[in-house]
Amino acid sequence: MVGGRVLLDGGAPLLPHMHRLGVDPGDIGVVFITHFHGDHTLGLPPFVLHRVFVDRRPITFVGPPGLEEYLERLWEVSWGADWKRVMRPQFKVRYLTAKPSGTVSGLRYETVKLDHGTMGSNGYRIHIDGKVVAYSGDTEPTAPLDKLVDKADVAIVEATGPGDIFSHMSWENAAKLRKRHPQTRFFFTHVYSGTTTGAVKDLQVIEV
Ligand SMILES: [Zn+2]
Ligand SMILES: [Zn+2]
Repeated sequence: MVGGRVLLDGGAPLLPHMHRLGVDPGDIGVVFITHFHGDHTLGLPPFVLHRVFVDRRPITFVGPPGLEEYLERLWEVSWGADWKRVMRPQFKVRYLTAKPSGTVSGLRYETVKLDHGTMGSNGYRIHIDGKVVAYSGDTEPTAPLDKLVDKADVAIVEATGPGDIFSHMSWENAAKLRKRHPQTRFFFTHVYSGTTTGAVKDLQVIEV
């Protein structure tokens, strides 16, 4: 979550984490979806439930082609026939296929197509409060990732684990990436095996 109003993907358990941090889920105006893997999207149904029943402010999702079909199917799997009958009419949503560059909810962004298995991942450079935040979702450490983080103020990039990792970036390659981009402040996420010294142990709010 960036600036209290932008959400980058929606892994589980999104809604209870927002409540724990004291952030208002209703303040989210735009959600950037990088790709449709479950660890990036399956926290969204409870978040949408909140948006349908508790806070009905409009929301925009930006993502790869097929975004609307994928998310509407996810909502239908979550709530069955009641989604279309009861909930969908209350949900003030827009689904936008990400453009190479565009503006959404007053925010400029650029999309960089990243290498990630057969699905790929949309990396985003988002201009917010005079800074550029680059977010990878999931990616292999290939040339488009360097393009994504180049001269960004902040880069939120996956670094999944040590060694050789299929379709993801290793800690070793993450360290090299950071060396190649010394002006950028990196936050490495998506760690699924082990930990490193100095890593965040729980939720944290960071001022940039
Ligand atoms: Zn993935
Ligand atoms: Zn992932």
